Amino acid sequence: MKATILKRFQSVPEVVDLPDPLGPGPGEVLVKVGASGICYRDLLVSEGYFPRAKPPLILGHEFAGVVEEVGEGVEWPSKGTRVASLPYVQCGRCYRCISGEENLCRSRVFLGEEVAGCYAERVIVRSRALVELPQDVGFEAGAISACVIGTLLNGIRQAALNPNAHVLVTGGGGGVGIHAVQLAKAMGFSVIAATHSEWKVPAIYGAGADQVLTSPEFSQEAKRTVSEGVDLVIETVGQRTLDQSLRSLRWGGKLLLVGNVDAGAASIQLAQLILRGVSVIGVNNSSRRDLMEALDLVKKRRVRPIISSAVSLESVPEALQSLKDAKPIGRQVVKLW
Ligand SMILES: [Zn+2]
Ligand SMILES: [Zn+2]
Repeated sequence: MKATILKRFQSVPEVVDLPDPLGPGPGEVLVKVGASGICYRDLLVSEGYFPRAKPPLILGHEFAGVVEEVGEGVEWPSKGTRVASLPYVQCGRCYRCISGEENLCRSRVFLGEEVAGCYAERVIVRSRALVELPQDVGFEAGAISACVIGTLLNGIRQAALNPNAHVLVTGGGGGVGIHAVQLAKAMGFSVIAATHSEWKVPAIYGAGADQVLTSPEFSQEAKRTVSEGVDLVIETVGQRTLDQSLRSLRWGGKLLLVGNVDAGAASIQLAQLILRGVSVIGVNNSSRRDLMEALDLVKKRRVRPIISSAVSLESVPEALQSLKDAKPIGRQVVKLW
């Protein structure tokens, strides 16, 4: 089978021909991959940011496909079931897993890092990392539902907003940002988006934003709309916009760190958090519940996955490079068939 592998850190991933994976072991299934999401995390992996990743390895951690073979002891799914996967395999036994917070399982293993990823025609994965892909949701949409939409759902739930809340999304045209705009809108909130890419503005309005700000000093503009400040900022950029994001919040507001946040350090004036009662929440991926809810929202057309391009395995390096340059509107995927 063809697969895109990272041979060593800080090298360009390559497409190679590998033997098909051997049949699934106990508790595992073999999935024919329909589509894989292309994620900023893959860039961080290839740059060596996650020490638990051990090249050479097949990259990619978000996918949807069809079950081709089922290992011993697997009650669900059966052969032929369409599935979407979590980006990791949870242990299934610890307190976090039992509480439905398997995204916080310390024994989880991440696809494309600690185990073989899904930039491949076939992948073997534990059945407990899978949920059913609804019939009317395509593989491309399924592939980005966990890492993007599910993660956002997880974070927005943690923020426990009132129905009349104002939400500001930074990087509003990016892979995570444009879905954050849609999701916040679908949940009934007023949505302001910030972007530094003027050409993405029409698409962000198309995703449902009530207002799109393009100034680097967007906190001032946001406060012209909501004078006391917004209830929630969904920060998808990181360091570069963090100060403006904090300034945009009302007293008692919340900042979600989610998605393509860069790996660098940021400085925060602690008094700014304390005196204004601001909370900072890091969102660590999605649980199976989040993934199921994300797929349901997609199925009901309340969130429309925005796929900027569907590329081949060979084009993964180029696609990753374009993420660095913040070029795509929405999410890129690898389409296998
Ligand atoms: Zn991802
Ligand atoms: Zn666990």
